[in-house]
Amino acid sequence: MSFNIAIDGPAGAGKSTIAKKLAKELSFIYVDTGAMYRAMALYFIRNGIDDADADAIARACENVDITIVYRNGEQCVLLNGEDVNGLIRSEEVGNMASNTSVYPPVRAKLTALQQKLAATSNIIMDGRDIGTCVLPHAQVKIYLTASVDTRAKRRYDELLKKGTQADLAQIKKDIAERDARDMNREIAPLKQAEDAVLVDSSEMDIDEVVAAVLAIYKKAV
Ligand code: C5P
Repeated sequence: MSFNIAIDGPAGAGKSTIAKKLAKELSFIYVDTGAMYRAMALYFIRNGIDDADADAIARACENVDITIVYRNGEQCVLLNGEDVNGLIRSEEVGNMASNTSVYPPVRAKLTALQQKLAATSNIIMDGRDIGTCVLPHAQVKIYLTASVDTRAKRRYDELLKKGTQADLAQIKKDIAERDARDMNREIAPLKQAEDAVLVDSSEMDIDEVVAAVLAIYKKAV
């Protein structure tokens, strides 16, 4: 049987950074489920589909094929065969992903793909509903969070480092809005699974969080 580690939490909590490091350390495969929702969102944007049009979204789902491949250990998301990894990190795609991840056909499609990946390999999967819906039997579940202020500051610093102008107050507002949408949607909302361990990284650096999660993993094996 494969070993599954689920990491859920709000945007900007550091899930992907931590999950990637752990995957390397444990020789597990890292599965970034947000990237799948983003690839779907890119399809909707490219095809001019309104994020409020549930019927159009449902129809479009029938024409979208999302596949995951690994190149040099890196997850690549293929949208109808095209590698879209470099096109899905913008705020526009992130917001579209958040707005369209509320629809059942979108979730059903991606949940099935995620469950298939987890059934055959030892994986660390991050997202919003992994411990609660996608992998309810994951052997280790982590709920990784941090305060809105901390997450906004991290994002702000990241943008400045890239030489992009940023407005801290606006980032804070966007993060709070995204949290509210992800936590309050009807299907598979972001919430801590009852058997998940809470890790608050507000006052921790990356190495401290990795060490904390590794300790939780070691306890479980
Ligand atoms: O994690 P990331 O910011 O890439 O995710 C983009 C959006 O995709 C999230 O805001 C959320 O609405 C959606 N998502 C989801 N379920 C997941 C992963 C992401 O609904 N398992």
